[in-house]
Amino acid sequence: MTDGVFDRIALIGIGLIGSSIARDVKELGLAKEVVISTRSPETLRRAEELGLGTAYVASAAEAVRGADLVVVSVPVGASEEVARQIAPNLKPGAIITDVGSTKASVIAQMAPHMPQGVHFIPGHPLAGTEKSGPDAGFAGLFRGRWCIFTPLPDTDPQAMEKLKAFWTALGSRIDEMDPQHHDKVLAIVSHLPHIIAYNIVGTADDLETVTESEVIKYSASGFRDFTRLAASDPTMWRDVCLHNKDAILEMLARFSEDLAYLQRAIRWGEGDKLFDLFTRTRAVRRSIIEAGQDVDAPDFGRHALDAKK
Ligand code: NAP
Repeated sequence: MTDGVFDRIALIGIGLIGSSIARDVKELGLAKEVVISTRSPETLRRAEELGLGTAYVASAAEAVRGADLVVVSVPVGASEEVARQIAPNLKPGAIITDVGSTKASVIAQMAPHMPQGVHFIPGHPLAGTEKSGPDAGFAGLFRGRWCIFTPLPDTDPQAMEKLKAFWTALGSRIDEMDPQHHDKVLAIVSHLPHIIAYNIVGTADDLETVTESEVIKYSASGFRDFTRLAASDPTMWRDVCLHNKDAILEMLARFSEDLAYLQRAIRWGEGDKLFDLFTRTRAVRRSIIEAGQDVDAPDFGRHALDAKK
């Protein structure tokens, strides 16, 4: 088993995810050099002020020169452009990975640009918050969280082991699946909940019979918990919707059917159906707590989780 330590890491994109990786790499001593590149001069300057790396380079193509590990942390819709830019300068034997929330699309965008002799291993850490930018990141974001890899069929086992060792050092639990399966699983556990949250908050915002101040004032009755998800980065979530279209539409169709069932039960006063569903869903919540994916606090575990950070 390797130790997950690299001589030189290049981080392309230094928002919430990229900067959290940078903080962990620094804290844990996982690289001698960390070269950072991002699209805008403002973000690059901020990364330098925060001391996230050892070098700061405007061009992604320049940043990857000589890097043993390249981590691409940009919105999924920008993957192809980044792959095109970095491809000519990738070092033979380098590991290229990403953190994108959709996998089939990222592979389709990046794989064709990868030169012979480099190891492209797509990944997705299931960790994050509704915040974005380099200030939003923090050390320990990935601790106890899953990191799912969707390796290509010809992936070199040694490169895979080395990348797994890196994420294990960040505290992640590792899993592997094929990209299509990943996209389906994520459509239900992450993408659909965000879309529902965006929708419900949008509906409340549009309501004319309830004033905006009432929506805010009484938000703790349930609405508040949707607003956290609905505050997530618009660019990232636009890209997720556009790049996991099929799986999301499939889940939305099932969701709409189930909602119609619920609607009908309410209309016809079928309390037993409502009670049965609500009992089943309560058990799902219990399983999530038992699996250590949340804590059993009355505020959706938020304060308790914040205190742990
Ligand atoms: P973020 O905080 O908004 O940071 C995005 C980074 O990408 C910034 O460095 C930004 O550069 C750069 N960028 C934005 N648009 C770009 C473009 N068109 N071309 C090149 N670079 C661009 O985003 P994040 O939350 O770290 O998300 C990054 C990736 O991680 C996304 O693919 C997302 O799906 C995935 N992810 C996110 C979460 C989460 O909860 N946030 C969790 C797991 C995975 P400038 O600031 O310089 O413009």
